[in-house]
Amino acid sequence: MSGEIDYQKIGFKCGLEIHNRLAVKHKLFCKCPARFSKQEKPSFTVFRKLRAVPGETGEIDVAAEFEFLRDRDYIYYVYEDTCCLVELDEEPPHEINKEALFVALQIAKMLNCEIPEEIHVMRKIIIDGSNTSGFQRTAIVGLNGYIETSKGKVRINTVCLEEESAGIVEKNEKKVIYRLDRLGIPLIEISTAPDIKDPEHAKEVAEKIGMIIRSTGKSQRGIGVTRQDLNVSITHGARVEIKGVQELELIPKVLENEVKRQLEIIKKGEKPKPETRVAKENGLTEFMRPLSGGERMYPETDIPPIKISKEFIESIPIPETLESKAKRFEKVIGKELAEQIVKSEYLHEFEQLSAKFNPKLVARTFTVILKSLKRDGYDISKLSTKHFEKTFEFVEKGIIAKESIEEILKKLCENPEKSIEKIIEELGIKSMDEKEIEKIIDEIFEKYPYLKEQKRFSAIMGEAMKILRGKVDGKIVAEIIKKKLCL
Ligand SMILES: [Zn+2]
Repeated sequence: MSGEIDYQKIGFKCGLEIHNRLAVKHKLFCKCPARFSKQEKPSFTVFRKLRAVPGETGEIDVAAEFEFLRDRDYIYYVYEDTCCLVELDEEPPHEINKEALFVALQIAKMLNCEIPEEIHVMRKIIIDGSNTSGFQRTAIVGLNGYIETSKGKVRINTVCLEEESAGIVEKNEKKVIYRLDRLGIPLIEISTAPDIKDPEHAKEVAEKIGMIIRSTGKSQRGIGVTRQDLNVSITHGARVEIKGVQELELIPKVLENEVKRQLEIIKKGEKPKPETRVAKENGLTEFMRPLSGGERMYPETDIPPIKISKEFIESIPIPETLESKAKRFEKVIGKELAEQIVKSEYLHEFEQLSAKFNPKLVARTFTVILKSLKRDGYDISKLSTKHFEKTFEFVEKGIIAKESIEEILKKLCENPEKSIEKIIEELGIKSMDEKEIEKIIDEIFEKYPYLKEQKRFSAIMGEAMKILRGKVDGKIVAEIIKKKLCL
């Protein structure tokens, strides 16, 4: 596809905005946990309306007016286990979350940014109701950085630490329902300069930045945790912002399609309009609203500036890069698994658990097995570190065979509250002791005496595994058969 279009010739300009939720304990401006609610239903709901008012220039922003004229109802689901009065905008924000600030500064350092001496929390006007206050709190923690890529330097304009918005539950022309548990989770936002050369390059840049964020070990995982907004324009075209690309793989396709869309409008003698569009899963985009007239920011008067000393910045350690990690893991788990695991969302868990359990088994579980579960439609986001730890523990103790891991995890996805002991019992996969295995092999010998006489190991092994697969490690079975055949 990209062969058809000469991106340099058409004046392709592209910059990215990457958002990533941080896996820290608390929200950015209150002590509520930085995760989704565990409640089945909201504790209560709140109803609100939004109004567009003139800004400091006396004019009403075109995008704000567009949203206002829709006259929508805004309904908020409030969950008591993850929301307090701060999310409801009934109480001023508390002090900024130090853990999140530390991670954000770490990322800014890795992106070669300058770090301001004072961090100022600002209010960014948000017009779609996804923030109860009508603005999002955001703070620049780094600026004027860069990353190296295969097509030259790409400048990083800013690194911001922000509040995540509320999550959409339902939306139509008349109303929007949001859930407030997501609101206020610390979010890192990285904006690049329009230095990206072509659609494939955009994917490379997003991937590089994603790996830097993940190397802190503080990136949340799951669908929607990372979102890419793409800013794109071409000569005689218009600047278009494409929101919410969730999959890295989709970036080149979305950009190609947008360029083609603009080229077609230009060919008809018309001029594309500056607008915000939203990415769909098929790589196409859809009109969302006119492009907002630039970001309007006000200082957040409830939070004093935070002084950052040079000594403090210097004391922040830079985590090991993922490339260097992959090299280190390669020696233990082989190149292929090492490369997969550093790109995996489960890198942090791998590092934790491979210190205690067989590293190859742990790596294979977090790559091959989880991929297969996901493909089969299991919701692997239900699995916690504890689930994995317990499962590995049972394998290590010889209570279950490593072949049973997949079955156990499947059951845990369906019922995360169930104990692993209970699952093992229900599946009937408790490992057999040697005597039981010997008995099964003796039965095979009785049934097929010629296999024993001719010492046909593979055939016997095949018969035995028909019965024992998933219950006993194949290695143990092989050893017992060999012993019996005096091999
Ligand atoms: Zn709160």
